[in-house]
Amino acid sequence: MSEEPVLPRIRPEIAALPAYRQGRQASADAFKLSSNENPFDPLPGVLEAIQGASGINRYPDATAARLRERLAARHGVSSDDVHIGAGSVSLLAQLLLATSGPGDEVVYAWRSFEAYPSLVAVAGATSVQVPLTDDFRHDLPAMAAAITERTSLVIVCSPNNPTGPTVTHDDFAAFVEAVPADLLIVLDEAYAEFVTDPSSVEGDRVRAIIARPNIVVLRTFSKAYGLAGLRVGYAIGHTRVLDAARSTAIPLSVTAAAEEAALASLAAESELLERVRVIAERRDRLVARLRDAGWPVPDAQGNFVWLPAGGRALEVAAAFEEAGLVVRPFAGDGVRISIGEEESLDRIVEVAAATAPR
Ligand SMILES: *Cc1c(COP(=O)(O)O)cnc(C)c1O
Repeated sequence: MSEEPVLPRIRPEIAALPAYRQGRQASADAFKLSSNENPFDPLPGVLEAIQGASGINRYPDATAARLRERLAARHGVSSDDVHIGAGSVSLLAQLLLATSGPGDEVVYAWRSFEAYPSLVAVAGATSVQVPLTDDFRHDLPAMAAAITERTSLVIVCSPNNPTGPTVTHDDFAAFVEAVPADLLIVLDEAYAEFVTDPSSVEGDRVRAIIARPNIVVLRTFSKAYGLAGLRVGYAIGHTRVLDAARSTAIPLSVTAAAEEAALASLAAESELLERVRVIAERRDRLVARLRDAGWPVPDAQGNFVWLPAGGRALEVAAAFEEAGLVVRPFAGDGVRISIGEEESLDRIVEVAAATAPR
């Protein structure tokens, strides 16, 4: 029997993290509803834009200046108040590195986006997870109460992945008032385009009303814009806060193809809005049918729905997989189903009816 090889030393908090394994790819006849991806083809002009992107033997424009300028105009800020990243997850990682290290605490709701715990651990900081309310919303008063002098960053995810509800504008505004002015608040709005509840917080509006440098809004081209495979997202915030993020960034991570595709997608605004409308309408119909089938589905404002299956999450997800529906289980909590093709809906409702709690 051969001996175990000696492995190089790893930071203990990193060795303790579960190794990243991507969800199973769907088989040919299955619907992949596990990663909140967009079911549509790229927006018009995107493929041509990628083909026209400058030579791949050259480095990209380090600051993605043209995309920053376009986004700045769109969001009514200066282009230094926009920062582009290879996905908004990388922007969150930068903000964590810029603010948080060993001994610091990062407060966020739980359950929320699965990337948060590992990004916090990689920065060397400690997660403080504040349980969601019984209706799967952020408990902002409890989050405010969890803030101490050790707190270095707070994340608010609206709509909350994976449960679906948004934070309201009024609740977010009250939260900002309740926390120290020098504490960075990251508002993760990966699903902002799908929101139809007008009482929800919205990054531009809240930053205009509460003109404070400690709010940074994260947006992505991965979900509504359907560019998940190209990795491009952006942050909007105070120039000096974003400068700190820029200082921690891995240089030249945003490719020219990603920048061109994002620019082309922004030029296809009317098609984008139409697709977003289709998905939000499909989502609302699915929620109604799932509730009729016996599932207490919380308010869904993203491009996904949440089945609060609790301890049955793995078993319920297995029933969906059996029916050719690849969904995303969170053991002990529930099952998230992305809004995909129209043809997947009847199958989803069928399995949901067969697995509903009684
Ligand atoms: C999908 C998602 C992101 C965006 O990821 P990208 O890195 O931009 O692809 C960010 N936050 C949440 C909550 C998400 O669900």
